[in-house]
Amino acid sequence: MSEAQIFAFANQKGGVGKTTTAVNLSAYLAHGGYRVLLVDSDPQANATSSLGLPALELPLSLYDVYIQHTPLPDTIVHTEERGLDVVPSHPDLAGVEVEMAHVPDRETILRRALAPVLDAYDFIFIDSPPSLGLLTVNALTAVTGGVLIPVQTEYLALEGLGRLWETISLVRERLNPQCHIAGVILTMYDARTKLAQQVVENVRHVLGDRVYQTIIPRNVRLGEAPSYGETILHYAPQSSGARAYQALAREFCQRLGYPYPAPSHEERS
Ligand code: ADP
Ligand code: MG
Repeated sequence: MSEAQIFAFANQKGGVGKTTTAVNLSAYLAHGGYRVLLVDSDPQANATSSLGLPALELPLSLYDVYIQHTPLPDTIVHTEERGLDVVPSHPDLAGVEVEMAHVPDRETILRRALAPVLDAYDFIFIDSPPSLGLLTVNALTAVTGGVLIPVQTEYLALEGLGRLWETISLVRERLNPQCHIAGVILTMYDARTKLAQQVVENVRHVLGDRVYQTIIPRNVRLGEAPSYGETILHYAPQSSGARAYQALAREFCQRLGYPYPAPSHEERS
């Protein structure tokens, strides 16, 4: 396989499952033999801490890449999941929006920073904050594989997505022709409610094939795993949440025409 494909998780609504999906999809792809880099671009550092890393104690983070020109490879941390590496976040990252306000080419910082690691990974995922500010624009500008949009299966699920669509179009026109919607992932589905079923039907009707077949159920284990610093793959591999994220990894690869699990290194070369 050649250069890494870069995907961003984006949705300016908070609490829709961006981080949970970024972390657990990454974990299942790594478990399936792919080399994955997860870039935590949310100052809340939830992806970093979900993987058991102490965001406040790490020597370097994505903040240093933005502000100090620290080479991104220097910030990479290995996780306990073989094949899964992280560029950690730090709360200071929140300052980037203001501190970079007058820096030229500030929208392409992340894309340029990732260039040296493209050969080292199969997939790079960028977890974005719940806003459409500079950090999200950098993520959208860096993508080559497209944008993955988690949508919570609830009343008014699609509300506000118009602004995300517009931002994606603007970035595509001005900064990155490869910025497009790669997929919409329905999350926190509660099969017991009629409303959730109606939302699924409606979202599929409006957004068509871009919506993944795999639906992530609401599952207590998925909510608990981050507080133990573990992915669902380690915390509760038999849970409905784990099975869903494994199915999602499979569908993700299938949509790209990649096998899951990955071919071995001998088969690749
Ligand atoms: P975002 O990154 O979009 O803000 P998160 O992934 O952090 O969203 O999810 C918001 C909260 O909901 C977190 O506490 C997370 O653990 C929990 N959560 C996410 N997905 C599920 C799910 N499928 N079932 C139960 N809890 C979930
Ligand atoms: Mg998040």
